[in-house]
Amino acid sequence: MSIRAIVEQCEDIYNDLDFGYVRDWKQRHGAKAMGFMPVYVPREVIHAAGMLPVGIMGGGDAMEIIRGDAYFQSYICHLPRSTVELGLAGKLACLDGMLFPAICDVIRNLSGMWQIMFPDRYVRYMDFPQSWVGPGRDFYRAELQELQHDLQQLSGVEVTPERLNRSIVLYNENRRALAELYDLRAEEPHRVPTSELYLLLRAGNVLEVTEHTAMLRAYLDAARQADRPLRDNVRVVVSGLFCEQPPLSMVRAMEGSGCYIVDDDWVLGARYQLGETPQSDDPLGALVEAYMKDTVQTSTRYVDDGHNGDFLVEQARRRNAEGVIFAAASFCDPALLDRPMGQRALTEAGIPFTAFTYSENTGQIQVIKEQAGTFADSIKLWGTV
Ligand code: SF4
Repeated sequence: MSIRAIVEQCEDIYNDLDFGYVRDWKQRHGAKAMGFMPVYVPREVIHAAGMLPVGIMGGGDAMEIIRGDAYFQSYICHLPRSTVELGLAGKLACLDGMLFPAICDVIRNLSGMWQIMFPDRYVRYMDFPQSWVGPGRDFYRAELQELQHDLQQLSGVEVTPERLNRSIVLYNENRRALAELYDLRAEEPHRVPTSELYLLLRAGNVLEVTEHTAMLRAYLDAARQADRPLRDNVRVVVSGLFCEQPPLSMVRAMEGSGCYIVDDDWVLGARYQLGETPQSDDPLGALVEAYMKDTVQTSTRYVDDGHNGDFLVEQARRRNAEGVIFAAASFCDPALLDRPMGQRALTEAGIPFTAFTYSENTGQIQVIKEQAGTFADSIKLWGTV
């Protein structure tokens, strides 16, 4: 399959706010689908219950907000408004339930609204531990057990250790393919334009995991052979986009401004876990351990005092990045409250950075392109900003 055909397929999925793939999948399999909000949920458990996990990241810049604004005050991010709009427009009717992982007050409130708006649908607010020693582990295990119980009831499929182990294997394979994709982009960024990588990630929100892994493998094969020009771009990491997503035009503009993005944190749930989850007699316990010990550092997880920003510095060094662009959704408390700590860590490490905010429907693309371009030029000219 050609790169072009793969990217077109991804873009169709990205643009389809009616979730045609999900409807079709349900019909083909006679099974249910479970939506989830960013950043992370253990998709293995949903999959093992015979359901299709579907990542919902708002309506992007294509969704006209008519009723969603009425549900929220003006000084919060955009994602919940467009998600409410999607729900009220019936576009999420194909989802048999929604999971709202605990990442901020906005998502917590949205989960309450969802219960009121859609009383006949399954809604679960999923809490995650913020303590990495002591009772955090037991707490998370109890959360997963409840989730597993609920999903079994909903789907009628028992989540046996065999089924869960099988799902763990499939998601390990998917993470491995994604890691290869990220490594290839970091090593030879001209082979993997970020706009393509981004669309591949977004497709993974919707596609059944084996289909997505096959798609990633096909893209990797084609990208390794593609003859694409190498540009004199500056290598940057972008950080802060783990929840509300930028419009695709902004991703393209950043790339077109003279930056090679060599690492990022968008669609982070798919790469939240760094390593593989082992198969075991206690696969739920293995998922708990993986969450507790082996995940990225991001704003929605507690980081011990004095270490916030270490992961970002290490990420920039590992990817041989020359700078960092902080890009956060407007009014995103987790990203914006963490930003000073990240900036301090980068300053101490001598890594230049710049920062801006966006929203999923931002139209200020030219301003962002100019800022990213100026940042890239200053690094090229002076090695700093
Ligand atoms: S963009 Fe930020 S503030 Fe908005 S829902 Fe996501 S984490 Fe919360």
